[in-house]
This record gives sequence, structure tokens and C-alpha cells, in this order.
Amino acid sequence: MDDKIWLSSPHMGGNELKYIHEAFDANWVAPLGPNVNGFESDLEKYLKQNIKVAALSSGTAALHLALIECGVVAGDEVICQSMTFSASANPITYQGAIPVFVDSESDTWNICPIALEEAITDRMTNGKKPKAIIVVHLYGMPAKMDEIIAIAKKYDIAIIEDAAEALGSTYKGKNCGTFGKFGILSFNGNKIITTSGGGALVCHTEEDKQKAVFLSTQARDNAPHYQHTHIGYNYRMSNIVAGIGRGQMEVLDSRIQSRRAMNSFYQHIFADIEGVTVFKEPSDDYFSNHWLSAILIDEKITGKNREDLRLALLDHNIESRPLWKPMHLQPVFKDSPYYGNKVAENLFDKGLCLPSGSNLTTEDQNRIAGVIKNFFAK
Ligand SMILES: *Cc1c(COP(=O)(O)O)cnc(C)c1O
Repeated sequence: MDDKIWLSSPHMGGNELKYIHEAFDANWVAPLGPNVNGFESDLEKYLKQNIKVAALSSGTAALHLALIECGVVAGDEVICQSMTFSASANPITYQGAIPVFVDSESDTWNICPIALEEAITDRMTNGKKPKAIIVVHLYGMPAKMDEIIAIAKKYDIAIIEDAAEALGSTYKGKNCGTFGKFGILSFNGNKIITTSGGGALVCHTEEDKQKAVFLSTQARDNAPHYQHTHIGYNYRMSNIVAGIGRGQMEVLDSRIQSRRAMNSFYQHIFADIEGVTVFKEPSDDYFSNHWLSAILIDEKITGKNREDLRLALLDHNIESRPLWKPMHLQPVFKDSPYYGNKVAENLFDKGLCLPSGSNLTTEDQNRIAGVIKNFFAK
């Protein structure tokens, strides 16, 4: 059997161990230290626009703290893009709040501005204005931010950007994660850069950042004994993990280039295959890091569906995966309100994510191309 080709696997740059050794040498084996500060400062420089970043234990933790800082409490409603990973929505329920799911639109696969406004006005008619809107930049593709921001402003609702998959993506030249009141990043093992596990909260003021640092380190008041006036969390990133992050930041731009090259590779393969479209930017306003490359298969034209292709790839030890199953179709969220039509459902039915790692070799690519071409030729 040929070696496994993964959808997206970690890809170290080389200097990660150097930063970890520094942490050991100085005995900074703790959820604070020079690597944490260094990683935060690397991210702040990368994101520009006077951004402040708090490094945390996960992207999920970052979303949870963003909701807390937006004042979301039990009984509140929070709007969330339905087509996403469950981690976008789960923290809403940690607060005892209610997720209200909204459909995608077909250009970016992200939250549909029309369905978003419909959801807001309908919830307000029911007597409740949503406290926040969670917008996701799926697979690295920026959402339609101008339209979404205009709606959020009109109704005075905070935007939380889930940029877990979109570090390095830009919309009209501005970094994803820096548009909302808060943004979140993830450095989980499968993301474009990884710290093995980790995340960050992207803030616009030092005060918001310090609040996140305070809450993520058990909310200890300033006193010689342990004194608490708030409920705290253990969400801070460790200095060891942050060392991996510093090494990864040195190679982020090259990782983005490689992922984008994988997307071009698929554009090329599918150019001659009728009935299959590769997900790409709708215009020059959008720059995707192409964290994952994905396709839509029109079964009416090809006579084949995404599950057939997934199994054909698996036969050759190549991993692929259907798109995120929308949250409004998940058993756990079956009672949550939903606004939209069938865009996300349709994408889920037809879509498949293909191997997209920055470490795939030419040989890997040839193997993938061979299986795909053979599959559609039959
Ligand atoms: C990975 C991911 C998260 C969660 O990040 P973790 O660091 O794994 O907690 C949240 N949202 C989206 C869209 C993701 O892909």
C-alpha cells in the first residue's frame, strides 16, 4: 500500500525546536513567558492595523472569551453561520445562549447577507435582538465583509470573525480576523500553521486583550492572596506551545504559497473535467490562503457523486472529506432557529475537500491526479 496522503497535516519550518529549547533552558515551562509574548507580537505585526492578540489554548477558547467580552449571557441569541465546524457554534451554548443559524451564499460559501438580515429582523420581531454575529471564513475564503459589516452597523450588533481557517487571507487587502469587534485564530494540528493545539483572540484595544488574558488565567484579582471577583478559565497558551508558533510564523507566507499552489494544481486537473468546479475567489477583492481546496461535483453531468470519489481516493490511501455538514442539520442543534434556503445543504451534498497540505510532494500530486483522472474517465 502506498503511503497515506492526508487532507492537511502539520508542516514544521525548522526553528520550532530552537524556541522550545530556549524555553527549557530558561525554565519557562508555564502558561506565560518570552515565547508567548514573542508569538503574540509576531501575530500583531502580521495582522497590522494596531491589532492586539491574546494567545490561548485553542480557537474554541478564543471564541468563548469573545462571546463573554461581547456581553453574551444565558438566554441571549447569537447568530452563527450554519456551514462551519461545530466549534464555531459550541461556545454559544457554553454561555447558555441560543444559536440562530444562517445559510451561506454560493460565491464564498460563507454567511449570506440577505439571509442574515432576514434573521435579524425576524428575531427582533420576536422581541429579541441578537447579541453577536459569528462570521466564518470557510476554508480560508473571506466572507462578503462589506455587506455583512453594513448590516451589523445598521442594527448595532457586534461581529465576531471566526478566522480559524483563514490566517493570511485578505479581503480588499485587509487581513481576515481584523474586521470584527473580535476575531479568532486556531493553531490546531490541521490548520495552515500549527502549534499542536492553540488559538488566539484578535482584539482592537489593549484593554480587550488584557481582559482576555485575565479571564484565561483564572481571573485572579490584583492581591497577594488568591482573590476573585469573576469566574475565570484556564485558557492561556503555554510557553512551550508558543515556541512552536514562533517557528511557524517564520514560514507562514511560504505555507500560504504552497496551499495556493495546491489550489492551482486542482484548477488545472479539473479544467478538462466537465461537471466539476474548484472553489476559488469570486473576484480580486478576495485573497484566500486556500487552507483546504474543495470541489463541487454535479452528479447530473458526471454521473458520479462526492462519496464515490471519496471512496476511490481512499482505495489508494488518499484522504478526502465532505464539506462541513451544516449546523442546522446536526442532531445536537435540531431545535435551533435557522434562516435561509438550501445553499449550505446543496454544498454539503456536492462538495468534497481534497488533500491540500503544504508538504505534498510532486509524487503525491501525481498520485492524486492519476486517481482523479482515472475516476472521471470511467
Ligand atoms: C478549527 C476550527 C475552530 C476551532 O479551533 P480549535 O483551535 O480547534 O479549538 C473553530 N472554527 C473553525 C471554522 C475551525 O475550523
